[in-house]
Amino acid sequence: MKAAVLYGAHDWKIEDRRTPLFGDNECLIKIKACGVCHSEIHQWETRVEGLEYPRYIGHEVAGEILKVGSHVKQFKVGDRVAAWADGRGYAEEIAVSTEFLSLISDEIPYEHALSEPIACTTNAVLRTNVQLGDTIALVGMGFMGLIMLQELRLIGAKKIIAVDVRKEMLELSAKLGADIQLNPDEHDIDLEIKKLTGEKGVDISFEIGGNQSTLDLASQICRMEGKLVIFGYHPGSRIIKDLGYWNWMAFDIINAHFRDMKTILNGMKRGMDLFNAGKIKMDKLITHKFRLDKIEDAFTSAKNKPIGFVKSVIVFD
Ligand SMILES: [Zn+2]
Repeated sequence: MKAAVLYGAHDWKIEDRRTPLFGDNECLIKIKACGVCHSEIHQWETRVEGLEYPRYIGHEVAGEILKVGSHVKQFKVGDRVAAWADGRGYAEEIAVSTEFLSLISDEIPYEHALSEPIACTTNAVLRTNVQLGDTIALVGMGFMGLIMLQELRLIGAKKIIAVDVRKEMLELSAKLGADIQLNPDEHDIDLEIKKLTGEKGVDISFEIGGNQSTLDLASQICRMEGKLVIFGYHPGSRIIKDLGYWNWMAFDIINAHFRDMKTILNGMKRGMDLFNAGKIKMDKLITHKFRLDKIEDAFTSAKNKPIGFVKSVIVFD
């Protein structure tokens, strides 16, 4: 089988490898799609000190079960599944333990069935304990923000305010049900949020963009005793510019990242149930598809975000 291996910055090699061995509680999967994740970009862009290369990345996998381990009862050969893989997803085949597999409905294309991002957004929404009628800002309307928007709509916010510098992402957020669109390049966000919330700020401010400006902005527009949710992925250092202000505002700071396996799997189960029921839709979000031998282009798109880009996915026959 073919696999893409990352040897250093921008240094992919497509190699022939043996079919992976699989254990009693694992399934061998013929991969049909693997999403390119924002969290992988920094290790491709530069050779990161302290990380081991060559790297076998790719964790947002969907495919068909080819073989099942001797103890596997709940899955069978031919099942269509999404898998949260521990790397090795940019390959034609992978072995995954059954606890990380979710069945997907027949009508859903493989490239839409990315269970890891759905688990992350679902857990963030669960941990935030969103209340019916909350006013919510989403700062950073990329792929994750657009999934989270759909989930927050299910709970019933009073207003969902989408914030992004990319016009077409704001337009997409409107299509997916965000009530208000604000562009920091065109609006004084602080002022607009004050107008929209009777001077108070939003009940919940989700920082999703994963950069300093989204962190600054998200904290600035959160109301006193509201919730600031840090969902964005922040490799490297960030500064809290005015901790005195954060103290004074007395908002809860929620670090919406998860490491405990039980929590992760609970989010994945709940999120994938919503996805299979058609309540989370990916058709407008999977915008760029690439074959395995074009993986460098897939990462370049994810980094540069050409007009209309939301998510790139590697696809296989
Ligand atoms: Zn991911």
